[in-house]
Amino acid sequence: MQVRVLGCSGAIAKDCRTTSFLVDSDLLVDAGTGVGDLSLDEMGAIDDVVLTHSHLDHIAALPLMIDAVASRRRKPLRVHALRATIEALRAHVFNNVIWPDFASIPSLEAPFVSFHDVVVGQELQLGTRALKHIEVLPAVHTVPACGYAVRCAQGGPNWIFSGDTERNPAFWQRVNQLDVGMLVIETAFSNREQALAQRSLHLSPASLADELAHIAPGKNYPIYITHTKPAETAEIMSQIDTLAADSKVQGTKEWDIRWLEAAGVLKV
Ligand SMILES: [Zn+2]
Ligand SMILES: [Zn+2]
Repeated sequence: MQVRVLGCSGAIAKDCRTTSFLVDSDLLVDAGTGVGDLSLDEMGAIDDVVLTHSHLDHIAALPLMIDAVASRRRKPLRVHALRATIEALRAHVFNNVIWPDFASIPSLEAPFVSFHDVVVGQELQLGTRALKHIEVLPAVHTVPACGYAVRCAQGGPNWIFSGDTERNPAFWQRVNQLDVGMLVIETAFSNREQALAQRSLHLSPASLADELAHIAPGKNYPIYITHTKPAETAEIMSQIDTLAADSKVQGTKEWDIRWLEAAGVLKV
């Protein structure tokens, strides 16, 4: 299984695109502005989208993508998300004001998009060309939110994505039970903005360190940092480097922390 990083930034700027990952060629995890780098053929090949939550940086390209490929597809694009996320999309995006209600266009029987509720803990099998097993993980955010564990349906390690989250013991409880190939976890703010991080239910390097301390002894996998605000990325990186160096000095567990890069491809 491969995961192509379309966007891993907390905001837009030149060369900064918001959260979106293409798993193999047929599954999209979140639909931030990074989707705009895909060709029409690549967008048209996506059959399923799983969303972590309703915030704009994770859904901005979804309405535009459906419009771009609607005429090329013979079946609806399936969008999977928590019920509250789908309700928000229907009420505030696909409401015939911001964008057409593509769940009833061109007809209710054969629409361009169909919405499917998921709940935390649910396991799904998705993927038309390469079947994948997906588990919905808990997240702690200002709106109902989740993360995902994705692996080949035949088995193998999981690609874990935290989604947008603050401290989240339930997430670690489950992740510690899984075979983890790699973890993608957010760190949206620097320690200087710790109060803002807490209020907006995001992580900062300090709270990231508390979170990583939940990783069970003996578990070792690469940890990729995502969702840094472009204006703070250098500061966040240096604070995380310090944190990793401190763990070496204190003789505590050393983490294999890496930076997620847009356009990179992760082999899981
Ligand atoms: Zn969010
Ligand atoms: Zn976000």
